[in-house]
Amino acid sequence: MIIYDTHAHYNDEKFENILKETLTENKKAGVEKINEIGYNVESSIKAIELSNKYEGHYAVIGIHPSDVDKCDVKQIEDVYNKYNNGKIVAIGEIGLDYYWVKDNKEAQKELFIKQIDLANKLKLPIVVHSRDASLDTYLTLKEHPALYGTLLHCFSPTEDLVRLVIENNYMVAFGGNITYNRAKSFQKYMDMIPIEQIVVETDSPYLPPEPLRGTINSSKNLPIIINKLAEYKHMNVEDVEKIVYRNSLEFFNIKE
Ligand SMILES: [Zn+2]
Repeated sequence: MIIYDTHAHYNDEKFENILKETLTENKKAGVEKINEIGYNVESSIKAIELSNKYEGHYAVIGIHPSDVDKCDVKQIEDVYNKYNNGKIVAIGEIGLDYYWVKDNKEAQKELFIKQIDLANKLKLPIVVHSRDASLDTYLTLKEHPALYGTLLHCFSPTEDLVRLVIENNYMVAFGGNITYNRAKSFQKYMDMIPIEQIVVETDSPYLPPEPLRGTINSSKNLPIIINKLAEYKHMNVEDVEKIVYRNSLEFFNIKE
């Protein structure tokens, strides 16, 4: 297998003492490329440091909507200017999250739009986090399109979002969430999204796939997710593996 984990947080403290073994296990499972995802200033810098240290690791920098009160877009631009090592491949994870905090929707939207503007200025794609906010995500992206590509991470399909993805040729990433029990409508949405618009991710250390829930997730679990995706798409596993790998390289502009 040759696998690209488009979304992981090896910058998370859960990996502090087990990073080396974890990365060795990932390699054994065929994971050749990993995006280290920032969610505030500190973790973005850490993501870049990891991409400096490890071959095949890339950095995505940005401010998660949960950190809307703690950092601003100027800091992310400064991080880019100060640390750019040619391996910063996107701005993310950015977006809207109304699950944890509901009383700052306007501030979240404003920060989201500013980070889309930054991505456009730097000619980078965006990695979007959207939770309990699908309509506002839809409206914001429609009014403020990212010019160099949009990837919806941990994609949880709804009528609105699937329409947005298909109309605009966005990419979506599926992770452990695809292995959980799903409503019947899930298959319908999976049929609608072309495989050319799909990549895979783990969101490590979060969201372990079934049957590993409750453990620390890592990229070595991606074969489980690729198998499940192949099932949903009625395709063979090798084809899915190759296509999602190629999709990832193209989306993040990585030359091999
Ligand atoms: Zn994440």
